[in-house]
Amino acid sequence: MGKQQTLRRFAFVALTTLGLVAGARAEPYAGPLFDTHLHYNEEAVGPYPLADVLGRMQRSGVRAIVANSRPNDGTRALASALDQTRAAGVTVVPFVRLYRNRADYNGWFKDESIHTMVLEQLAAGTPAGPFRGIGEFHLYESANANGAVARKLMQLAQAKGLAVLAHVDDDAIDLLLAHAPEARLIWAHTGIGGAPVARVRALLLKYPKLMGELSYRPDLTDANGHLSAEWRTLMLEFPGRFLVGSDTWVNARWDSYETLMTQARLWLGDLPPAVAKGIAWGNAAALFGLGEPVESKNKRP
Ligand SMILES: [Zn+2]
Repeated sequence: MGKQQTLRRFAFVALTTLGLVAGARAEPYAGPLFDTHLHYNEEAVGPYPLADVLGRMQRSGVRAIVANSRPNDGTRALASALDQTRAAGVTVVPFVRLYRNRADYNGWFKDESIHTMVLEQLAAGTPAGPFRGIGEFHLYESANANGAVARKLMQLAQAKGLAVLAHVDDDAIDLLLAHAPEARLIWAHTGIGGAPVARVRALLLKYPKLMGELSYRPDLTDANGHLSAEWRTLMLEFPGRFLVGSDTWVNARWDSYETLMTQARLWLGDLPPAVAKGIAWGNAAALFGLGEPVESKNKRP
C-alpha cells in the first residue's frame, strides 16, 4: 500500500468511526409530539375504542392530534370525549374529511354534495371547538385539482383560515395553490411518490405557507431509521415547515402506532434539539394556536 493510499485509508476509517460515534451519541427526541395526520376511521372504532387509541397516544407522548375520519363520526367521537382526552393530555384539532365512504375518494373533487357536507360540518362544529381544517383528501391525478369542488374548497379554506391536508403529487400543489395562494396547505407525506428533494425545496420557497407532513415520505431515513443527509439539510433550511404524522389509514397502523412514533423520535433525534422540537410539536402548535402541551391528569407511564 503506497503512502497516499495509507493516508486515504486512515482518513476513511477515521471518518467512519467519527460517524458511528456521532450516530451512537444522538438520543431519540424525548419531548411532546403533535400527530398531524391521524385518522379514526369507521373500521378502527370497534377494535380500537377511544380508551385504547388514547392510551396509544399517551404512551407515545402524543399530546395533540389532527383528527379526521371516514365518515366524520370518528372525529366527532374524539372531539366529544372531552373528559377522556383531557385526562390523556391530548388536544384534539378536528378536520372535516371529505369522505363519507370509500367511493368518495375518487370523485369528491367534482361532487357538489361533498361541498354541501363540508359546509354543514363546519357550521355544526364540534364539542372540542370549531373545525380547523379540511382533509385528508387524495388526488390520484393532479389535473383533478382543477375540479369545481376542489377549487371551491381551496377558496373556502383560504377565506376561513382553515388548513388543508392534501395527499397529492407536486404538480397538484401548484394547481391547488393557484386557486388559493394564501391557503395553509399541508402536503401529506411531502410527496408520497418521492418528489426529488430539489423539487420539495423549490415548492417550499415558492409557497411560504406550504407545510410538509412526513409520514411515508420515501428516502426520509436510511436503512437504520436515521435521517438521510439530504432531508436533514432541507429541515435545517426550513425548520418551521415540517410536521410529524402517523397516518392511521388502516388498522395495522393503529397496531404499530407506538412503533411509528418511536421511529419518528429516532430520526428527530438526529436534528438539533430546537429543530426537532419544532417539527415534533412547535410548528403544528403555531399553526393551530396551541401553546405548550396541556398538563395531563394521568402521568405518562
Ligand atoms: Zn392519511
